[in-house]
Amino acid sequence: MPAKGQHRKPRSLNRLTRVCIAAGTGGAALALPLVSVAHASAAEPAKAPAASAKAHQYTVVRGDTLAKIATAHHVKGGWKALYNANKKVIGTNPSLIRPGQHLTLNTAVAKAAPAPAKKAAPAAAKKTVSASGYSKPVGDAAIGTPYHAEGSNWSSGYHTGVDFLVWSGTPVHSVAAGTVVHAGADGSYGNDVIIRHADGKYTLYGHLTNPVVSAGQTVASGQEIGISGATGNVTGPHLHFEVRTTPDYGSDIDPVAYLAAHGVTV
Ligand SMILES: [Zn+2]
Repeated sequence: MPAKGQHRKPRSLNRLTRVCIAAGTGGAALALPLVSVAHASAAEPAKAPAASAKAHQYTVVRGDTLAKIATAHHVKGGWKALYNANKKVIGTNPSLIRPGQHLTLNTAVAKAAPAPAKKAAPAAAKKTVSASGYSKPVGDAAIGTPYHAEGSNWSSGYHTGVDFLVWSGTPVHSVAAGTVVHAGADGSYGNDVIIRHADGKYTLYGHLTNPVVSAGQTVASGQEIGISGATGNVTGPHLHFEVRTTPDYGSDIDPVAYLAAHGVTV
């Protein structure tokens, strides 16, 4: 299997990847920037004009690599510079970083940020439930990478969901009533929530800062299920929204068409 397409690999493959990274293979870390950069070019709006370098603190989370962090936060000089600036914390092996470590990031540009989602009142989003009981996953937000965008960076060759450009911290809502089948860490998807609906379809909400529901919980259409973020394999905050016919990766269908069929236009 191609060692790429982090964003889109089945969970089982992600686990394998994680094991490789944990084992400290330099190759795994080196391979990541290509993936992330490619995703970024498609997923993100134009970057803000270069701003003066700024130092930020970052806390390593599970699944991170220096390359991933460097790409996600636009670290000047990439992962090597990030490593050099944090050798005291990281130690002699740049491919071994641990959750909880505090790194100093020298960002070269202002954080590439999605079009600002109007601080849409969550209440407003809840009111937009369609006649068929469906609603938007986030308030008014532009779409970044569309469904089926092609790219060799994805193992299946295309984007399995649609990306909504929202800042971290934006409330994310279930598009319909259903039962939470997963809430938490999910490889390249970061923290995600997967919900099974009455029609047998599943919706997935990826890269969340954190879910606010747990597996087994019943949710209503428009109910807040998590807070958007930039966890997993991303280069900037956004909501990856996916619709599946089974709980498994690869059974995706067009999420925009799915919502439209239920009276919701995004
Ligand atoms: Zn996506």
